[in-house]
Amino acid sequence: MTNPQELYQQVILEHNKKPSNFGVLESCTHHADGLNPLCGDRISLKLIVKDSIIEDVKFEGQGCAIDISSASIMTTTIKGKTIEEALELVEKFRSLVRGDFNSNLPHNLGKLIVFENVKNLPARVKCAVLPWATLRSALKGDVSVSTEDI
Ligand code: ZN
Repeated sequence: MTNPQELYQQVILEHNKKPSNFGVLESCTHHADGLNPLCGDRISLKLIVKDSIIEDVKFEGQGCAIDISSASIMTTTIKGKTIEEALELVEKFRSLVRGDFNSNLPHNLGKLIVFENVKNLPARVKCAVLPWATLRSALKGDVSVSTEDI
């Protein structure tokens, strides 16, 4: 049995080393850039949305392990989801890392649940949330977001 803390570190390290969906989309329907000045995390997110479904998504940027792994797992999770489902996940993820989420109840967060550990690291909450705040901005048509606003 792996304890949650070990699982968390393992997942973060794996995704930081080999992020999924890292790169540029030739064309996109939605995009946004996010900045977390506290840590220096930057992310640029591009999506292709057709008939309200997220068909493809890629990100680029520089950031700490928590930021990059959060973006990596986010992009794998939202592919194939509707805009509405993705926005719902944004809210769930935010409450998860802020410690307002009851993970003992049934949930559909999958691998994202490891980020619950971030609630014990208040300085890292914005790192974890940045990709999600950027996703929300992209889907709502705002092109830039700073964690100062979230
Ligand atoms: Zn960071």
